[in-house]
Amino acid sequence: MESSPQTHLHLLLPHVLIFPIPVQGHVNSMLRLAELLCAANLRVTFLISDFALARLQAHSNAQSRLSLYPDFSFTTISDGLPADHPRAGDRAMEVVMSLRETGRAKLREIMMRLLPVTCVIGDGGYSFAADVADEFGIPFMSFRTVGTCCFWAHFCVPDIIQAGELPFNGSSDYEMDLPVTTVPGMEGFLRRRDLPGFCRTEDPSDPLLQYIQFETRQSTRAKAVILNTFEDLEGPILSQTRSQIPNLFTIGPLHSHLKARLDGAATPQSSTSFWEEDWSCMKWLDAQPPKSVLYVSFGSITVLTKDQFMEFWHGLVNSRQRFLWVIRPESVSGGGQGNIPAELLEGTRERGCMVGWAPQEAVLSHQAVGGFWTHSGWNSTMESIAAGVPMICWPYFADQMINSRFVGEVWKLGLDMKDLCDREVVEKMIRDLMEVRKEEFVESANRMAELARKAIGDGGSSFRNLDRLVEAIRSLAFRA
Ligand code: UDP
Repeated sequence: MESSPQTHLHLLLPHVLIFPIPVQGHVNSMLRLAELLCAANLRVTFLISDFALARLQAHSNAQSRLSLYPDFSFTTISDGLPADHPRAGDRAMEVVMSLRETGRAKLREIMMRLLPVTCVIGDGGYSFAADVADEFGIPFMSFRTVGTCCFWAHFCVPDIIQAGELPFNGSSDYEMDLPVTTVPGMEGFLRRRDLPGFCRTEDPSDPLLQYIQFETRQSTRAKAVILNTFEDLEGPILSQTRSQIPNLFTIGPLHSHLKARLDGAATPQSSTSFWEEDWSCMKWLDAQPPKSVLYVSFGSITVLTKDQFMEFWHGLVNSRQRFLWVIRPESVSGGGQGNIPAELLEGTRERGCMVGWAPQEAVLSHQAVGGFWTHSGWNSTMESIAAGVPMICWPYFADQMINSRFVGEVWKLGLDMKDLCDREVVEKMIRDLMEVRKEEFVESANRMAELARKAIGDGGSSFRNLDRLVEAIRSLAFRA
């Protein structure tokens, strides 16, 4: 590379390497962090898989938008999987594991090329990045894309096992409803069925349970742990977590924090989608009455069985509410829709809109949206909270099981439909959320949205924590 005065200036800036697990949810929140750091005049290299970068280039404006920051760049690593791997459903974790197994040597090479690096901010699921950072003598910070509630429950898994509350076989409702008493701060409302999905195993040596235990404990090695949450949302659980990890930075909700910090800047609307966003649904929303539409989306990984899909569709139509339903390509197993009953087609034509992928942040802030039927992914949960939209939660796996319990039982922001999927339940929950208990939920959702707004506003907890984080990174650049 040619050396110019600008190159030298660029080398003087503190340089952060950000390395997420290369799936949609993790990339979304860590790209927002990357942009916040660029906006604070740090140099950022964002390391993702070739596959993920190709998806971003094909379907989002992430690259052109981030090229507005001269000190931002993408760099790639192979995730070790063939291009046609589904990277979803029950094979989603293969993305995580494949890169974890093959990434160490490649990361060393990449690091060598990128030096000098001031600090690595790695995904909390990839402690091998901390090992590599150690080898180079570079400080490591851990970014958790899950909520504190999930992180803390994972942290306590050894104690839950010790107390005999894990493993369990989950064969009966009686067993699944037994309380878990060994996660401090969650006594009284946490049941076995609410534990993160990796705990649903009879085998204590289950590889995913082992993985999550190991990686979570590795966070104690990090110089700091960064969370996409805010103090008023998870205060009691954050206090518990700080007893083990004092250096915690809560800087969320990241998507609205980024918007607030860039307010007034001439940057285009951010999009980080791996699929083409269908903006026609916004026109459809424009024609619906205020707070009348249930937005339905199960994120980037969930795959429904054909039976679940049909039960959901019947329940939606029978509820007689308006709905906007995201049906991601290949997100229903068992192929095509086959013979669809006429009443479903009719009800959907009258009151529904279906798209393959939506601009979710814009949808959730649309005045026509009155509820969100979600799989309780952490990004979706934060986006719904920030927009003040009550939720019905149908968690699919991983952290979603505990997020949904917090939404329903702790924050009272909606209803938890975990482990249920028949059409009568769906219809009743939708009516409860959108009609019967609407006022109660709208009120609590508005209250929480206001707290989220305060957190990211000038002087709020997330605002101050981000400033502290930037300062901490800067000070690393000047250490001896
Ligand atoms: N998302 C989107 N359009 C959709 C569905 C989802 O933009 O039609 C985004 C959503 O805003 C969120 C992310 O995809 O930021 C999904 O992340 P989440 O953590 O909720 O769930 P995951 O996909 O990881 O299960």
